[in-house]
Amino acid sequence: MRLRFILGDQLNATHPWFDQVEEDVLYVLMEVRQETDYAPHHIQKVVAFFAAMRAFAAARAAEGHRVHYLQLDDPDNRQTLAGNLSALIDAYQATHFAYQLPDEYRLDQELKAFAASCGLPWEAVDTHHFLTRREELAELFVGKKTYLMERFYRHMRQQHGIMVDAAGQPITGQWNYDADNRKRYDGKVPVPEPISFGQDVTEIVRMIRSAGVYTIGEIDSERFIWPVTRQESLAALDFFVEKCLPWFGHYQDALSAEHWSLFHARISFPLNAKILHPREVVDRAIAAWEGSAGTIDIAQIEGFVRQIIGWREYMRGVYWAQMPGYATQNYFGHERPLPEWFWTGDTRMNCLRHAIRDSLDRGYAHHIQRLMVTGNFALLAGINPDEVDQWYLGIYLDAIEWVEITNTRGMSQFADGGIVGTKPYVSTANYLDKMSDYCGGCSYDKKRRHGAGACPFNSLYWHFYERHRDKLDKNPRIGYAYRTLDRMKPDEKAQTLAQAETYLADLNTL
Ligand code: FAD
Ligand code: SF4
Repeated sequence: MRLRFILGDQLNATHPWFDQVEEDVLYVLMEVRQETDYAPHHIQKVVAFFAAMRAFAAARAAEGHRVHYLQLDDPDNRQTLAGNLSALIDAYQATHFAYQLPDEYRLDQELKAFAASCGLPWEAVDTHHFLTRREELAELFVGKKTYLMERFYRHMRQQHGIMVDAAGQPITGQWNYDADNRKRYDGKVPVPEPISFGQDVTEIVRMIRSAGVYTIGEIDSERFIWPVTRQESLAALDFFVEKCLPWFGHYQDALSAEHWSLFHARISFPLNAKILHPREVVDRAIAAWEGSAGTIDIAQIEGFVRQIIGWREYMRGVYWAQMPGYATQNYFGHERPLPEWFWTGDTRMNCLRHAIRDSLDRGYAHHIQRLMVTGNFALLAGINPDEVDQWYLGIYLDAIEWVEITNTRGMSQFADGGIVGTKPYVSTANYLDKMSDYCGGCSYDKKRRHGAGACPFNSLYWHFYERHRDKLDKNPRIGYAYRTLDRMKPDEKAQTLAQAETYLADLNTL
């Protein structure tokens, strides 16, 4: 018997492993405490993985493949990958061991060590999921200190022949329509009711709870909203392409108190679990654009393609170029603990209350909530990136370290000192008010820097720049911030910085 191990985020039914049924091959999948307990995960995240793994295992078994699936509550479950693999190798008297290359450094190290010591001939094969090799980004930027996403993105468009002509130039004459993707949502275009799948996952929730797994957030176990099967994931993709893509780019950066998902795709879980392939996602969206007779314009499709073949593959490349050192980067030396209300949403700041409660309710927040609300606040307030990482890793359904840490520590917290971002993503209330309807309903005053009810973002923003002057004032992209700060009347500046100090002294009461 040859044993082939599949991790919970390797649910790729089109992998060559499944091209034909082989009698002497046993596929192994397992639910283990090692994976539920390494961070405090959202209940919906744990459920989504287990439900997706079970559906995948059942589908392969129905095709005739031999599958051994270990549930969390199986009496034979040793609750670690290595423990279970050793036991199964013995039980089946396996003669060969194979696994697909993990996307997480931690698991990569563990499986390599296990394979080397298991006493069998072994191999590690590609997952056939990404469009890039692990090393591709590092090779493209060899000798460079920063990795410019735009350069990587153009390389991807050219290499994969996506929306380029025979000479490798963009078919619409322009590479990037980012400037057209910054509209505030004004309610004129109706937001489609988000597609929901309604699976009954009560049994999985009961098992997780009775095993005593610590989880965060809420779940409606009789109507689980997220796609976990291949069929549901394709339906989610179709829904996005038909109903959301025509407005995706325009409202990509918008924030709304009323609409938690706006025109976003909500396919990051099936993508990261490899139920959907990035190429099929991009091809489906481009086909819709080509057949849309102009109802989907270039700014929408280009904005979407950039996320999938640009940002997503780019983050993976950064991860493999920078790990394991990336996980401990803390450029600003930030050390404050995360305010307690990050786990409850109980804050008077309306923008943060919405972003955190949305996250606790569904294990999801869209990109701008993550970047410009929770991430923005954490950076301005000087929260320790380890704590920020733990929060993002636990709370989102789509959070797997390769894409979580690069977005959080890199893009959002600038803890890598500028490998991913050319400047920190921070703002005052001015930006949040421009892009959202949060400020009108807030207990804080978006206009005030100091004094009663002053919006915390306003003073914290200037405090951040003042305290990190030595690290930031030479950055050509943020000279304007220092010019404004230096032009501020001394009294105004002193009161603003003092207000920030007051807030920083007791973040839990904001
Ligand atoms: P859409 O906005 O509809 O975008 C479509 C797809 O593009 C996404 O599904 C995703 O696969 C891809 N994409 C878009 N932006 C990015 C990006 N910056 N990096 C990688 N892929 C991207 N994404 C994760 O998949 N897992 C994470 O753990 C994660 N953590 C994040 C943490 C922070 C602080 C920030 C700022 C962003 C994070 N992102 C993460 C990126 C992004 O926010 C999510 O991919 C997106 O919100 C998922 O929702 P969606 O499918 O509706 O995305
Ligand atoms: Fe957020 Fe400040 Fe606006 Fe309130 S006023 S919603 S805290 S930005």
